[in-house]
Amino acid sequence: MKTGYSGLFIPGPTNIPEKVMQAMTLHLEDMRAPDFGGFTLGLLNDLKKVFKTKTGQPMIFPCSGTGGWESALTNTLNPGDKILCSAFGQFSHLWADMCKRLGFEVVRLEVEWGKGVPVDEYQRILSEDKDHTIKAVLACQNETATGVTSDIAGVRKALDAAGHPALLFVDGVSSVGSIDFRMDEWGVDVVVSGSQKGFMLPTGLGIICVSEKAFEAHKSSKYPRCFFSWEDMSNSFKTGFFPYTPATTLLRGLRASLDMIEEEGLENVFARHKHLATGVRKAVDAWGLKLCAQGPEWYSDTVSAIMVPEGHDATKVIARGYERYQTSFGTGLSKVAGKVFRIGHLGWLNEIMVLQAVATAEMAMKDSGIPIELGSGVAATQTHFMQSNYGS
Ligand SMILES: *Cc1c(COP(=O)(O)O)cnc(C)c1O
Repeated sequence: MKTGYSGLFIPGPTNIPEKVMQAMTLHLEDMRAPDFGGFTLGLLNDLKKVFKTKTGQPMIFPCSGTGGWESALTNTLNPGDKILCSAFGQFSHLWADMCKRLGFEVVRLEVEWGKGVPVDEYQRILSEDKDHTIKAVLACQNETATGVTSDIAGVRKALDAAGHPALLFVDGVSSVGSIDFRMDEWGVDVVVSGSQKGFMLPTGLGIICVSEKAFEAHKSSKYPRCFFSWEDMSNSFKTGFFPYTPATTLLRGLRASLDMIEEEGLENVFARHKHLATGVRKAVDAWGLKLCAQGPEWYSDTVSAIMVPEGHDATKVIARGYERYQTSFGTGLSKVAGKVFRIGHLGWLNEIMVLQAVATAEMAMKDSGIPIELGSGVAATQTHFMQSNYGS
């Protein structure tokens, strides 16, 4: 029998704060009530702060992040348009694959898993594209499968250096609200996010933000769309209403989540993620293990993909954590299946929860025959937490 809290250390869905849970414990409400529009407009306004935009327009679809990807593509482009993208993990792969499945022409750069967006390569390709046949550039800010964060400011610089007008689309599903993201400063045209990661909510809201330039492209885009139509959504959003039934319960949760982010302070939220992630990385070092991310420039502050030594199976560690210790770690996806287990350290999390994850990972690894010293990672994490100025 299970007692107490189960540990949830997957990189989404993440732990839901009590306040957010309570905000969602309510009777269903009238989404056409006279005051509902005002409520939505307040959410949209506060989302702008999270995306760091003044001129961008946030939109909320009742879907998961994948729907946000689709919305970005089908609302701005024309059938057969060329898209530049790169694949270095399961999520960047899936978005690129979606481009292909939707019938776009895809220039897809294969990058070793453990590295991120190849900014120099992007710049070279964009510079050579003199006729501007590439209409959109995709970048996954945080590849959740490998724990790799890419340089989005760098992608903007590459576009500018090449003098290229392509739209810049960013997957921020596991970074927005946890790792710094700057829509206006980085000239991002569409950023895609979801409710179940940094926003600390259940899955079910695809939250995107659209630049004025992307809206311009929308006007001449002939790709068929219906459910994800920006035209429908933005027209009804003028008064804060939705073109179809919104996920009202989740929107109430989003209100609470945005209030919590505001109360903590967005920059403090980022600092907390960095602090906790560093604690996890100290443990990985102490275990003598390696991250999938191939160097500090790629380290993610929301998820660490930890490589088990050759000859060991990470799947066993994950199963042991779940079955014996009531704790979930993220599994290795696709190319890294069996090679990594992931500790998600994003959302509503603190130092003692991270210590719980690290201690449990040690037991599950030791039980699975991986030669680590019990307590070594815990001590390294504790030392980091005690020595840092965080929280004092
Ligand atoms: C979770 C995630 C997604 C979206 O996945 P959904 O399951 O559709 O919400 C997309 N990209 C990244 C980087 C993610 O982590």
